[in-house]
Amino acid sequence: MASLLEIQALKKYFTKSNGFIKKVEQHVKAVDNVSFSIEHGETLGLVGESGCGKSTTGRTIIKLYQPTSGRIIFDGVDITNFSEKEMLPYRKKMQMIFQDPYASLNSRMTIADIIGEAIDVHKVTTSKSERDDMIADLLTRVGLMKDHASRYPHEFSGGQRQRIGIARALAVNPEFIICDEPISALDVSIQAQVVNMLEEIQRNTGMGYLFIAHDLSMVKHISKRIGVMYLGQLVEIGDRDKVYSNPAHPYTKALLSAIPIPDPLSEKAKNRIILQGDVPSPINPPSGCHFRTRCKYSTKECAKCDPVLKTIENNHQVACHLFKQ
Ligand code: SF4
Repeated sequence: MASLLEIQALKKYFTKSNGFIKKVEQHVKAVDNVSFSIEHGETLGLVGESGCGKSTTGRTIIKLYQPTSGRIIFDGVDITNFSEKEMLPYRKKMQMIFQDPYASLNSRMTIADIIGEAIDVHKVTTSKSERDDMIADLLTRVGLMKDHASRYPHEFSGGQRQRIGIARALAVNPEFIICDEPISALDVSIQAQVVNMLEEIQRNTGMGYLFIAHDLSMVKHISKRIGVMYLGQLVEIGDRDKVYSNPAHPYTKALLSAIPIPDPLSEKAKNRIILQGDVPSPINPPSGCHFRTRCKYSTKECAKCDPVLKTIENNHQVACHLFKQ
């Protein structure tokens, strides 16, 4: 069976004009040669600091942005250059849950209309009573009440709004959902509830998730595999337990060392790796390894050659010259 999703050498560059007298075009390399796959019923967690290109990767996969190059293969079909019309059936199969539960819901629409919009666009049903029943069922599935359908977004808390966003994504029975930082705007107590709900939905439906987050502790809970991005590139990818227990890339090690430990004594004793300097501009990333300006192991080779992903153990790859194949 084909993978649910296969991304091959995906690039998304944004063009920016600069200069006062003479306009100069510059390319923001938001996603730069990223490849990975997601199987049916699997969750891949994608982590990295903000601005590393994880959300742009998600938006390019779902074709909110047209890729600069590379291939997007969904369920064995290459959708990279599909027109809007050709994409319509795939928009039903691929949904997205957005980060901000306040901005992502239209404040002038009722909850029934917000959830029902996807049902109408994709002609899931033309029967009014069936539509109402579907909306009531979706609200119940995400832990809300049927009579919430007639209310407006401002009447709900952040956690409840995110549940509405999830109900909207589920309305068309997708096979794949891109969860773009779905919990980062929520209170910690609500985050676990939303993650548990997403896991339960996955168990019941077998859908795949790309779970984008900067909170590495929550992403560990939900993901089967983890990908780590830095400055538009994938620097490490592998089974969750391998990446967390045996991180290979110096950037992954630094990210993991920053996860707080609940026990105060262990937290005090741990060896946190503090990265020097800022993330360089994606317009003009460093030559060779993009991480080299912040890496204490950097050598001359790191400045000359861009490392590619190499397999270091079964289901674990890293892009770093410290590892030779
Ligand atoms: Fe550091 Fe070189 Fe590895 Fe990049 S390739 S992470 S600079 S050691």
